[in-house]
Amino acid sequence: MKRKCAWCDKDLGEKPPYTDQSVTHTICDTCRETERQTGQFELAIKNNPKRYLAVRDSQGQLIEVQDLETGSIHQKSRTGWYVFS
Ligand SMILES: [Zn+2]
Repeated sequence: MKRKCAWCDKDLGEKPPYTDQSVTHTICDTCRETERQTGQFELAIKNNPKRYLAVRDSQGQLIEVQDLETGSIHQKSRTGWYVFS
């Protein structure tokens, strides 16, 4: 079976049975780390809604977080979260 990341569609090789060419979805290390950080931001926003400004896409996914206390801006990309300050 072919393994692909359900988040970024990255090819993650194959797993048995190798004769089966169907695709099984999993999560790659990059996306796992990005999602972990997203979860931390969601928690921080929930715990301190006055400090953070959350920007979401049309599906409600967190794509940017502004920390109003430090002025830093965190942006989510396909390869992880980046900080602009
Ligand atoms: Zn991925």
